[in-house]
Amino acid sequence: MSEALDLGAQSAVGQALIAELGGEQVLLDEDVHNRAAGIWRKEGIKACVLVRPRNTDEVSRAMKICHAHDATVIAHGGLTGLVHSADTQPEDVVISLERLQQIEAIHPLERTAVVQSGVVLQTLQEAVAEHGLIFPLDLGGRGSCTIGGNISTNAGGNRVIRYGMTRDMVLGLEAVLADGTVVSSMNQMIKNNAGYDLKQLFIGTEGTLGIVTRAVLRCRAQVDDQPTMLVGVESFDNLVQFLRHVDQGLRGCLSAFEVMWNNFYRLVSTPPASNQPPLPQDYPYYVLVEAIGADNSLVEAVLAQALEEGLIADAVLASSEGQRQQLWALRDDVEQTFQHAPTFVFDVSLRIPLMEDYVNEVDRRLGEAFGEFKNFTLGHMGDGNLHFVVAVGDGSDAARETVERSIYEPLAEISGSVSAEHGVGLEKKPYLHLSRSSAEIAVMRTLKQALDPKGLLNPGKIFDA
Ligand SMILES: Cc1cc2nc3c(=O)[nH]c(=O)nc-3n(C[C@H](O)[C@H](O)[C@H](O)COP(=O)(O)OP(=O)(O)OC[C@H]3O[C@@H](n4cnc5c(N)ncnc54)[C@H](O)[C@@H]3O)c2cc1C
Repeated sequence: MSEALDLGAQSAVGQALIAELGGEQVLLDEDVHNRAAGIWRKEGIKACVLVRPRNTDEVSRAMKICHAHDATVIAHGGLTGLVHSADTQPEDVVISLERLQQIEAIHPLERTAVVQSGVVLQTLQEAVAEHGLIFPLDLGGRGSCTIGGNISTNAGGNRVIRYGMTRDMVLGLEAVLADGTVVSSMNQMIKNNAGYDLKQLFIGTEGTLGIVTRAVLRCRAQVDDQPTMLVGVESFDNLVQFLRHVDQGLRGCLSAFEVMWNNFYRLVSTPPASNQPPLPQDYPYYVLVEAIGADNSLVEAVLAQALEEGLIADAVLASSEGQRQQLWALRDDVEQTFQHAPTFVFDVSLRIPLMEDYVNEVDRRLGEAFGEFKNFTLGHMGDGNLHFVVAVGDGSDAARETVERSIYEPLAEISGSVSAEHGVGLEKKPYLHLSRSSAEIAVMRTLKQALDPKGLLNPGKIFDA
């Protein structure tokens, strides 16, 4: 297709969207490019049109028009995703869910919330708290990421060990297919085995099968006690035993087990970082433990026993809400790694007993390839999930590929996953085959073909259709 025709087609879909939804809902060209492509990105959004519908019906009408024009469509939530799954091309139409902001209902008795998909995670957390509930999903991007983005990436975060991933907190949802069909599956019950569980098609599929517009979310009862502690540990072996110890000792209350390797802890507790080190900076490992619902005396007893048995070397238990937040602020301050930019961020999962050898192997490969490097290591270790922020080289594609191979290739040998919780997007697409068999990828293609035969929704992400 010639460029002139291409541009003509773009403006035709823009004009048709304006005619259908009104000019206020539709941004074109410069108004689109002037918006940042991600919360940590400087460049603007590359797309010809950005639509801001207010409800499912408007999303459906927008999709019908895009379908009729064969326009490719990318859904945008809070743009906090870390694997380039919301990236656009100049000819794309963006459907931003930013105006789907309504919390439609909160049901304290059933412990559910009914929301539009553009609601920001933190807004929902705060809203349900007023009704004596928690929405257990929690992650560093909470102030910007949206429920629709959380669902589409099946976000994990800090409390998976207790409450599972986003998938485990979605009872029902509503989604719009590529041709504009609305699939309303707003189930409100915990149990519903009446046929296929269609919501799963839209959870963790990164906007490639449909656009999520509403959801019914499962909350939990709020409890006052949230004992939170930071612990220094001398060896990985002790770390694993300590995990087992707190899991048993805290009687089902363990809600986070977040490990920081020494280099990450030092970074986030040394200026220019604003946080002070609550424990000395020379332990090889630090772990942030949270136990929602446990009382302090139980936690103190569990810690005392761990100290006595030599599983841990040191510990500080938060004695106020302010201190609790300070401990979490250390773990959340991933942005300190920007001091060492260019950096590459990774999110992998593997069996816990294999972690120490795996991290050593990654570091060995990085050392062999680059000599000098920094690999800030942390993770939701209780879930078998590690993050690396690797600072090395010049940020070039060649450097990235070498780092990626150092991290992903040893994973394949131990049946780990190239994506624990961030998704695949464009970034991990070349490595999907290391974690999924060809039969699995073939079924993914079949689903894509069935729901979006024209290949219009988020094309080229996860795999090539
Ligand atoms: C500081 C920080 C910490 C983070 N920590 C974690 C963490 O601990 N665990 C974790 O899992 N992730 C984490 N993330 C990644 C990110 O926050 C999550 O992936 C989040 O769920 C994305 O939500 P979003 O609204 O920003 O989605 P976006 O970035 O806007 O989009 C992500 C993907 O979802 C699609 N999408 C968005 N909305 C919809 C919709 N309504 N319907 C269909 N598709 C849609 C997009 O097309 C894209 O493919 C972190 C990010 C940051 C910046």
